[in-house]
Amino acid sequence: MAQAVINPRIRGFLCLTTHPTGCAKNVQQQVALAKKSAPGKGLGNVLVVGSSAGYGLSSTITSLFGYGAKVLSVAFERPGNGDRPGSAGWYNLAEVHRLAKAEGRHIETICGDAFSLPVTEQAIAALKARYGKIDTFVYSLASPKRTDPVTGVTHTSCLKPIGPTYTSRTVDLDTDAIKEISIAPATDADVANTVKVMGGEDWERWITALAAADLLAPGFKTVAYSYIGPVMTHAVYRAGTIGAAKEHLEATAKRLDTLLQKTIGGHAWVSVNKALVTQASSAIPVVPLYIALLYKVMKEAGNHEGTGEQILRLFRDHIGPGATPTLDDQGRIRVDDWEMDPKIQAAVAALWEQVTTENLSAISDYAGFKHEFRTLFGFELDGVDYGAPVEIEHPLV
Ligand code: NAD
Repeated sequence: MAQAVINPRIRGFLCLTTHPTGCAKNVQQQVALAKKSAPGKGLGNVLVVGSSAGYGLSSTITSLFGYGAKVLSVAFERPGNGDRPGSAGWYNLAEVHRLAKAEGRHIETICGDAFSLPVTEQAIAALKARYGKIDTFVYSLASPKRTDPVTGVTHTSCLKPIGPTYTSRTVDLDTDAIKEISIAPATDADVANTVKVMGGEDWERWITALAAADLLAPGFKTVAYSYIGPVMTHAVYRAGTIGAAKEHLEATAKRLDTLLQKTIGGHAWVSVNKALVTQASSAIPVVPLYIALLYKVMKEAGNHEGTGEQILRLFRDHIGPGATPTLDDQGRIRVDDWEMDPKIQAAVAALWEQVTTENLSAISDYAGFKHEFRTLFGFELDGVDYGAPVEIEHPLV
């Protein structure tokens, strides 16, 4: 097996390399947090689709190490090959698997396109053979594309306003300069395609397939993740193409919830989560600047959370064993409540008005944003010797 010294190669919101030891370290930190903060038992079988990064990775770790669940994980990741590093999500799951095996916990991963029929069929076969009925299903996909398994048509999502051209300030992640961007309005086809990719259709398809295979346990719960966010990003997020998809996801949750309550005493919810640095959120125009300001304000207020803390709170207070969710007037769980606190939002809005290239580092946590972005790919973690060659190929044991 090949070893290499791996350095970060960053282009805007993409990092072209990954560091296996750093990714493993990230996972170890989240596992320690889950073990410290959750009861260690209480969940039976959990399916996580989109399990390898961001909110889905935290859902996997919280279920497996925080609640003693048996987890079936589904993600679209690439293993290391020769001297070419794998994707960060691959190394994350490799470490989750390694730690789970060492502790006698059960996780299996299906690596493939979750939008496709063969992957759903593989998941159903694995569940029937080695798990039994599912108690909790977390749907945490963030993808730019989806091939509809019925029509074979590939849909591409986009991040555009619906309505007039949107002009805003943003930060150029290559030059660290504040600049203006203008995004042309979406066409009807853009909206429909984004809803196809990021709306609720595929979540519902999974649940229908699992129900048909008689794999939903009595009292089954399912959750998918959504975002609302502040006024500054509304035109490009909540009132844009991705917002239309999130509205579709939320409407799907309501429909599924009614159906599941009637049939198996189950539930389907959307949880609105906080804006955090993930591969998906870094790619959204304007959002990185908002996150840099939000981090500054929330860290100063002492209520900043990462994906691990957010998911632990979601399980403890809303969807975990014995919890009854508190829902907003639209029927949604809100773990973005601390982000959306009017005092936090007013402080961020005031900084937003002042931010320039010159004062960016002083008035925002841009350094924190950049650091966290690099840690997603395994770089800049304490205790990792980045000058030493590392093994590229790590199997999912
Ligand atoms: P992420 O980019 O960190 O992770 C995406 C996951 O989806 C990965 O596990 C990836 O392997 C998987 N995936 C993508 N395409 C796939 C495919 N075709 N088949 C199988 N797996 C696939 O994303 P994230 O930011 O954690 O987002 C997850 C969800 O949380 C999304 O619905 C997002 O809108 C929502 N959310 C994110 C934020 C945020 O700030 N990051 C805030 C609120 C809600």
